[in-house]
Amino acid sequence: KPLLTVRNMSISFSSPDEADIEAVRQVDLSLTPGKTLALVGESGCGKSVTARAVLRLLDKNAIIPSGEILFDTGQGAVDIARLKPDSLAMRSIRGAEISMIFQEPMSSLSPVHTIGDQIDEFIILHERLSPKQARERTVALLDQVGVPGARDRANAYPFELSGGLRQRAMIAMALACTPKLLIADEPTTALDVTTQAQILDLLRQLQDDYGMAMLFITHDLGVVAEVADEIAVMYLGDVVEQGDVYEVFRRPKHPYTQALMNSVPRLSRKADRKRLSPIKGTVPSPRDRPSGCAFTSRCPHAFAPCPAQRPERTQVSAGHVARCHLLAHEPAEALA
Ligand code: SF4
Ligand code: MG
Repeated sequence: KPLLTVRNMSISFSSPDEADIEAVRQVDLSLTPGKTLALVGESGCGKSVTARAVLRLLDKNAIIPSGEILFDTGQGAVDIARLKPDSLAMRSIRGAEISMIFQEPMSSLSPVHTIGDQIDEFIILHERLSPKQARERTVALLDQVGVPGARDRANAYPFELSGGLRQRAMIAMALACTPKLLIADEPTTALDVTTQAQILDLLRQLQDDYGMAMLFITHDLGVVAEVADEIAVMYLGDVVEQGDVYEVFRRPKHPYTQALMNSVPRLSRKADRKRLSPIKGTVPSPRDRPSGCAFTSRCPHAFAPCPAQRPERTQVSAGHVARCHLLAHEPAEALA
């Protein structure tokens, strides 16, 4: 049973002197407990905006003109798209049921309070615990996320910790109320390779312990291979391909997904490093979005219908879907 179902969701940004900008277009996503969905794409493709919509943490000028964000609270599904961002209902979901970690821990940690005080306060905000009980929970959490000497480190300020430990402290805070869904926005991008591997291990371990679902945002396909069960590839606000991660990696159907995969060097083989082929061209601005397929200007396979007609979602195999005119024009057996 899905924990989160995003259906036909669009997100626009209004500006006083220009037409609205469509940042996300008719996105469908689904996530079940204990599973990880990776949202993948180049910067500006709408993956962070999509994730922030789930927490209603969008900028003031953003609107969700269509679609649903159904979240199973355990007492029935709530449509987050219809909640006011600062409503009691949304505030009781945010942080407690769905929490988020970021690339930069300082965007969720305050520099002027110790990490222990911040986590205590967060726990007390959501649960009826005494300060002493909250601190016990905080120490246990810090210990669980691998902060050595947790009881003492709880008294440290964020700047006194290394980047990796700050990341762990942020994860501890995100997990403080045992959320059902953890949204991770490029949580390892700023870390060195060793620390990155440790944090990914930790997240996987915590997912096993808590059975939580993860929405994992990254531009790194290596990270996707490590953490994800499902993948959704975004390009200029569209989900262009999605499905089971092994299936999509093995048989990518959208030319953009294929290009992304070709741009990843296989580190184990020197010869492959030379074949690294970055995708030519740049992503168009959402202000001059082509009326047809947004990938037209960079696609090596673009043909007649591409510039003017938006491709439909086409089912490739069970659960594997892509938006590309090539699929509609291929005979069904060629897709199998
Ligand atoms: Fe390329 Fe056309 Fe498919 Fe877009 S619809 S990815 S331009 S072939
Ligand atoms: Mg981003």
